[in-house]
Amino acid sequence: MSTVLAALFLLLVASGLAALCWSRRKREWTGLPRGRVVYTDTGAWDRCEKPLFSKRHLLTGRPDYLVEERGRVIPVEVKSALSPPIPYRSHVLQLAAYCLLIEEEYGQAPPYGIIKYRDQSLAIDYSPRLRAQILDTMAKMRRDLAADDVAPSHSNPNRCQRCGYEADCSY
Ligand code: SF4
Repeated sequence: MSTVLAALFLLLVASGLAALCWSRRKREWTGLPRGRVVYTDTGAWDRCEKPLFSKRHLLTGRPDYLVEERGRVIPVEVKSALSPPIPYRSHVLQLAAYCLLIEEEYGQAPPYGIIKYRDQSLAIDYSPRLRAQILDTMAKMRRDLAADDVAPSHSNPNRCQRCGYEADCSY
């Protein structure tokens, strides 16, 4: 009996380690930050009432909240879903775009932004690397907008089934 329990325990430890390795490798592969858990309280936050605009980057957007912390403005994006094991690329890049907008509007870059999921809030550092990634993504989007044809960034039939452009899409 104790041998079975020991084997089960080892199996659990091994699967936990494998899951940890997988999530770390995936994070390294995407090159995006994982974020750190922070305590947040919506009561003290100001709703962002008007969209932020950057003339330099021709970008506009409105984070859910802006929080002032030691003279810096921090964007907060609220998601109704539970926190995924690794923040989705789209969520991180959306937050990075808000950081870029705050940098322009307030003349000072936020040190980080916050994604508030239903169960926890993650602080994502607005590092030079993340800044470069959002600028690169925007450049690619503009290039794709000007192109005659753009290959999809996925091969996900379920997504295509729910897509409003399916009738016109050649993929
Ligand atoms: S159907 Fe929609 S989701 Fe699918 S490839 Fe075309 S545009 Fe993308």
